[in-house]
Amino acid sequence: MLTRVFRAHGLLVASHPWEVIVGTVTLTICMLSMNMFTGNDQICGWNFDCPKTEEILSSDIIILTITRCIAIVYIYFQFQNLRQLGSKYILGIAGLFTIFSSFVFSTVVIHFLDKELTGLNEALPFFLLLIDLSKACTLAKFALSSSSQDEVRGNIAHGMAVLGPTFTLDALVECLVIGVGTMSGVRQLEIMCCFGCMSVLANYFVFMTFFPSCVSLLLELSRESREGHPIWHLNHLSRAMEEEDNKPNPVTQRVKMIMSLGLVMVHAHSRWIAEPLSINSTVEVLDVGMELDHLSPRRIEPNKPLWQFYLTRMITMDIEQMICLALALLLAIKYIFFEQSEMESTLSLKNPISLSTHTLNLPCPSKMCCRQDLLTSQSLSHTPAQNMAVPGPAHKEERDYSDCFLQLGPRFLSDGEVMLLVSSKHIPAYKLEAMMETPERGVAIRRQMVSAKLPCPSALSCLPYTDYDYSKVVGTCCENVIGYVPIPVGVAGPLHLDGKQFQVPMATTEGCLVASTNRGCRAIALGGGASSCILADSMTRGPVVRLPSACRAAVVKAWLESTDGFQAIKEAFDNTSRFARLQKLLVGLAGRNLYIRFHSKTGDAMGMNMISKGTEQALRILQQHFPELQVVAVSGNYCTDKKPAAINWIEGRGKSAVCEATIPAEVVREVLKTTTEDLVEINISKNLVGSAMAGSIGNIVHCYFFFFQRNSSQSVGSSNCITLVESSGPTGEDLYICCTMPSIELGTVGGGTNLLPQQACLQMLGVQGASDDCPGENARQLARVVCATVLAGELSLMAALAAGHLVKSHMTHNRSKVNLQQTSGTCSRETS
Ligand code: NAP
Repeated sequence: MLTRVFRAHGLLVASHPWEVIVGTVTLTICMLSMNMFTGNDQICGWNFDCPKTEEILSSDIIILTITRCIAIVYIYFQFQNLRQLGSKYILGIAGLFTIFSSFVFSTVVIHFLDKELTGLNEALPFFLLLIDLSKACTLAKFALSSSSQDEVRGNIAHGMAVLGPTFTLDALVECLVIGVGTMSGVRQLEIMCCFGCMSVLANYFVFMTFFPSCVSLLLELSRESREGHPIWHLNHLSRAMEEEDNKPNPVTQRVKMIMSLGLVMVHAHSRWIAEPLSINSTVEVLDVGMELDHLSPRRIEPNKPLWQFYLTRMITMDIEQMICLALALLLAIKYIFFEQSEMESTLSLKNPISLSTHTLNLPCPSKMCCRQDLLTSQSLSHTPAQNMAVPGPAHKEERDYSDCFLQLGPRFLSDGEVMLLVSSKHIPAYKLEAMMETPERGVAIRRQMVSAKLPCPSALSCLPYTDYDYSKVVGTCCENVIGYVPIPVGVAGPLHLDGKQFQVPMATTEGCLVASTNRGCRAIALGGGASSCILADSMTRGPVVRLPSACRAAVVKAWLESTDGFQAIKEAFDNTSRFARLQKLLVGLAGRNLYIRFHSKTGDAMGMNMISKGTEQALRILQQHFPELQVVAVSGNYCTDKKPAAINWIEGRGKSAVCEATIPAEVVREVLKTTTEDLVEINISKNLVGSAMAGSIGNIVHCYFFFFQRNSSQSVGSSNCITLVESSGPTGEDLYICCTMPSIELGTVGGGTNLLPQQACLQMLGVQGASDDCPGENARQLARVVCATVLAGELSLMAALAAGHLVKSHMTHNRSKVNLQQTSGTCSRETS
């Protein structure tokens, strides 16, 4: 019953905002002018010499100043809370109205009741502490969750129904408690308590009438009338304002009329009724004043205008007033200009639903942003349509979040609410980056969700995720992103290669690796530099197709190996890219299965997507020639991608490169600290015989270059290498070293090469992006540098082995000084 009354009241004030506002203001002005009955028509200090209060002690001044400052800070924090709930501008203005009007109404009521305000001046800051904006915030939040003006009214009515009874009770209790002071017998305390009661009542009155009308009106005026979208999402504001400029707003027209009516009433009242009475009253006061001059306040002739009076007062401010004013100004500037500086509304960007109090499966209805949520939580009546659409409260809440998300956008939902939508499958988890207002927020939310499921919930705290350009990652490099792993990057060089010098970036966590490669580069440089060559440039894709019989498969094989067959396939393949050019087909047969290895140039790209696209198209043409052919898989592992495979070693894949260098005997002795003889011996025993014993294909060298690639798993195939070391020179003491790498899979465009750190490293070598002169030249140059760097590393590594330095240097430069036992125990202690 009570709820219904408040609801009806809320609907009334929200539906007639201008009427209520103008009515309230008119009433206030009338009450001010009606004080002719009371004689209180004077303003202290201007036309009325108020009785002086006793001199205030300096200690009192300090206490009063501190109190005022606390009151200002308190109000500032109230505003901050307000901002977290919605637009700091709209709500800020509404909040300011509330504070201001509370004071105005309180003062007016006191005047009206002919109460003395003397001495209250000093106590006014205390009354600021009585104002609680939180309910105003909540009511505004109801209103802001609407998508149309009708909904605004409805939501304000519901808000009133929910908050009204509590607020009424609160006001009553506060009045009763403060009212006790009015019976204390201490004059000053009685005055203060009386004002306190009035302040509470005025605040209540303002909240019930003035405030909801202000909010409703502000939202109505800022609404884009044509499309019906709320524009407290300020993106639309400028456009809406333009429209407002061009077309008379019917609401404004109506307002003007009502305002004029109100003002006419005020004027009529003060001219025809209040003025004569006021004059009489003044005369009476003067008469009485003459007689009782020593008892009552003294009337003084205003010999200066009111504005001049206030200006003089401002200029002659006390030090404590200056402090308060400065503090208020500072906080206002901070609030307006420095706090989340965007002009846009920021509803609920901070998470109002703390995960500690709110599990993902159990939404907390009281914190929800949508009107419907509040309906559910407060058991208010639903419209029939809503009831039909939503079978039960839990589903309804989920649907409502989803509605909020669709209507208002992600920034209007807190992280907790987004997580609910993900849990209820309204937002696919993998789409978080794309659906949030920034990809970083999507990553942050996924981290929170994942952390909750980890044995060590703080595990991700050391995995960075901020300050990363996820726009280059999404849809290209990684999915379900939760952060990134920074890898230290060292530099080795200068690497003297083919008459040029390179500073080679190397990303690694293996101590000694960069230092060792650097030593190899120095030895190469002192020997006059290394030379390199590209032997082949062709990426591969090897699909598997099936035919009804092995003989039919043999027929297809023969056709593919014929000039006509190859040309038909090549035409189809080459048409799919500006850079992919089919070079050859290697066809293997296993019973009815046919394995076709497409070899293609891929320009500066590593080329796997490019060649896959071409292969698919080529297979379509093949099927047209042989309709009985069935494509089993576009990759039949005959490529072979991301796995060690003899075919890559034998046939080559990507770039096949060779690099050689001669190191003079004294450089071998001075820089590498060994002899040519020892190095030759080590290479035979380790790299040739040792590898054969282990069954490894060639020499698997360290993957120095995975950093450049989009796909570090391709370092497996890329590291195929055979290293040859021989003695050379007239005395046979110089050293000849050569690395042959048949399958370096890399590129300088596409995939991960689009990421800025990767681009920086490619730029160091002057090979970033597509080659302007000749497509593929940048990628081939990179392959040469990789091959030469491997050579430098191999040289130094073998030297360290020959000199017996390897273990010692790794113990010094590669073993962590941190006590591993202690660090690994951190999380287990936390979780236990
Ligand atoms: P891509 O980024 O898919 O394709 C390269 C793009 O760059 C093409 O659109 C190409 O144009 C264009 N381009 C512009 N200038 C170029 C130039 N100078 N040289 C070459 N291309 C140039 O890159 P991709 O190398 O083909 O594929 C790399 C991606 O494949 C990586 O993300 C990797 O992780 C992934 N990958 C895929 C598979 C798979 O099975 N599909 C396997 C392993 C890795 P055009 O359109 O004219 O060709």
